[in-house]
Amino acid sequence: MGGTFDPVHFGHLLAAEAAREALQLDRVVWLPAGDPPHKQARPITPAEHRLEMVRRAIEGNPTFEASRLELDREGPSYTLDTLKWFHGEHPDAELYFLTGMDTVLELHTWHRPREVLAACRMVAMVRPGVDDAALIRAFQAELTRAVIRVNSPRVEISATDLRERVARGASIRYRTPDAVCDYIIANRLYQAHEAPAPVVG
Ligand code: ATP
Ligand code: MG
Repeated sequence: MGGTFDPVHFGHLLAAEAAREALQLDRVVWLPAGDPPHKQARPITPAEHRLEMVRRAIEGNPTFEASRLELDREGPSYTLDTLKWFHGEHPDAELYFLTGMDTVLELHTWHRPREVLAACRMVAMVRPGVDDAALIRAFQAELTRAVIRVNSPRVEISATDLRERVARGASIRYRTPDAVCDYIIANRLYQAHEAPAPVVG
């Protein structure tokens, strides 16, 4: 399960759980991007904070685990490198890459998309606000034909909205687990005029 997770929220959690169940996955590894090539337009919260929020969000779920693989890699994190690493570690595992539908629609902009599709089963989790016609076209296109679509309740939550809410003092309660809300407050993340607290540990 790849993403920026700035911050992780219930949309991610519900979609990942739906995919785990639908595809009968043994494990879901959460991979916060270290230096996301698609998101250079705004300052991104330090990766250690994003990883820690994921850890707290999935705590207690034995089938979910957080990985710092993409954090420790130098340069931009490419899904292809991540898939190659997992393949090396677990040569017999069947690899699925979980992403939201909006991400799949941008597949053609990824680094070596054909090799990515050859290295895993790509999974598109439904997400509100994604245009159905574009989706149907995408799934008929040569590149996206092999993508597996996973249905789940449409949860209209985005990390962008959470960041904006925190910045204007609005509530994010029940949009992300309490442990993540507490972490955001304690570390002054997403506040309009304050820098995030330094990462500890
Ligand atoms: P941002 O608003 O910063 O782009 P985001 O909410 O889209 O944040 P990402 O970290 O970009 O979160 O998302 C990681 C993955 O999870 C992406 O593939 C994205 O499509 C998917 N995703 C995010 N929110 C949802 C949601 N509400 N339902 C289903 N999938 C989602
Ligand atoms: Mg996004």
